[in-house]
Amino acid sequence: MSSSQRYNALKGVQDILPPDIYLWQRVESVARKIFANYGFQEIKAPIIESTTLFTRSIGETTDIVEKEMYTFPDKAGRSITLRPEGTAPVVRAYVEHHLHTLPPPQKFFYSGPMFRYERPQKGRFRQFYQIGVEAFGVATAELDGEVIAMLKVLLENLGLRELNFEVNSIGCEECRPSYRSSLQDFFSSRLDHLCPDCKRRYEFNPLRILDCKVERCIETRKGAPKVTDFLCGECRDHFEGVLSILRLLQIPHLVNPDMVRGLDYYTRTTFEVTTEHLGSQKAVAAGGRYDRLVEEFGGPFTPAIGFAIGMERLTALLKETGGTEVPSPQVFMASIGKRATQEGLLMAERFRAKGLWVEVGYEGSLRSQLRRADKLASHYVFIIGDDELSSGKMQWKNLRDGSQGEVEITQADEFVSSRLIP
Ligand code: ATP
Ligand code: MG
Repeated sequence: MSSSQRYNALKGVQDILPPDIYLWQRVESVARKIFANYGFQEIKAPIIESTTLFTRSIGETTDIVEKEMYTFPDKAGRSITLRPEGTAPVVRAYVEHHLHTLPPPQKFFYSGPMFRYERPQKGRFRQFYQIGVEAFGVATAELDGEVIAMLKVLLENLGLRELNFEVNSIGCEECRPSYRSSLQDFFSSRLDHLCPDCKRRYEFNPLRILDCKVERCIETRKGAPKVTDFLCGECRDHFEGVLSILRLLQIPHLVNPDMVRGLDYYTRTTFEVTTEHLGSQKAVAAGGRYDRLVEEFGGPFTPAIGFAIGMERLTALLKETGGTEVPSPQVFMASIGKRATQEGLLMAERFRAKGLWVEVGYEGSLRSQLRRADKLASHYVFIIGDDELSSGKMQWKNLRDGSQGEVEITQADEFVSSRLIP
């Protein structure tokens, strides 16, 4: 064999290992349950898409498109991008498969990895996971309220409290132009105080200045005109409607007129769930309305709204507040001798067929097998040796309460059924 070579995961990506993975699994299973209660069905879209799908929808002058996309030519020279977010692929699938022919609202959820070439730091990775939802076909504020309520119910079911729900409306193509020019007016005399990126944003996409995370831009934008003062009548009514539904559903919230979000496809409602417990990467989940995107992808006019939860930030928060239970084997089969080991294997297979988690000892002294059983926090241990086999009995121990005894091998199946299967 040639000389060996060690590999490490790439910068900004990480392996999710046990026991953390149990936390991830709990989030996914609680999310599935809650989404089902609200009628959201799963959709699995591909991880790779045409680059223009993202440049068009997210916007040419956003950070994601300008700096963060993993874009490469495939072998035929097509420009491919690893999805930086989940909405554009779902909207593409929605239009491609004519999902608008289903009765509205059509409601979907997804879960999977996203890719952004960002500077890795706490709560910020290059491959990260999102669980997200998208609801199509209903324009009224009730849907906005319900989607935000679902997010709150999900986070509360996971045991999280003390989260801030921030909401805003960024208007529509009717009201945005006047807001845009009023922002440009405001920043025109302050250009020197902005970062180089924001100087460009000033020109092409001044709303993006409000989303900049550079300290001096945060300082400079204090006192900037508020988007909520520029809403057209319909957008104002819609926003008032959303706020009143949030009150009806008793969702404490804060109106944050600076929250424009980093994607250009949003219209009207935008929202974020933030926490004080994660340092500067505060946003655990975020979303908004995107009433024009289906049309922009060639579908019929279809208002829509969605959100995405950042799994790394959410699980970090859950870990702080107590973690999750790690499962352990229900039975450990310790055995001494070849015949006993084979009998143990057969028994293990029968118990597994009943739905139990069964570990076997394989090899080593009885002592070392028992040590392993203990380390795994096994519930029951069975000890079977060639002597026990000839007497037709084996020993059992309950490692949780210390009780022990003997059981006829022919009775072992009943024994585990009565003690371990609810
Ligand atoms: P941020 O302002 O923190 O950069 P964002 O506005 O770019 O977030 P969205 O595109 O709204 O994020 O994605 C929704 C959620 O996905 C975020 O609230 C966050 O929890 C998570 N998220 C976004 N980017 C990353 C990343 N690079 N690493 C880990 N999680 C991320
Ligand atoms: Mg970002």
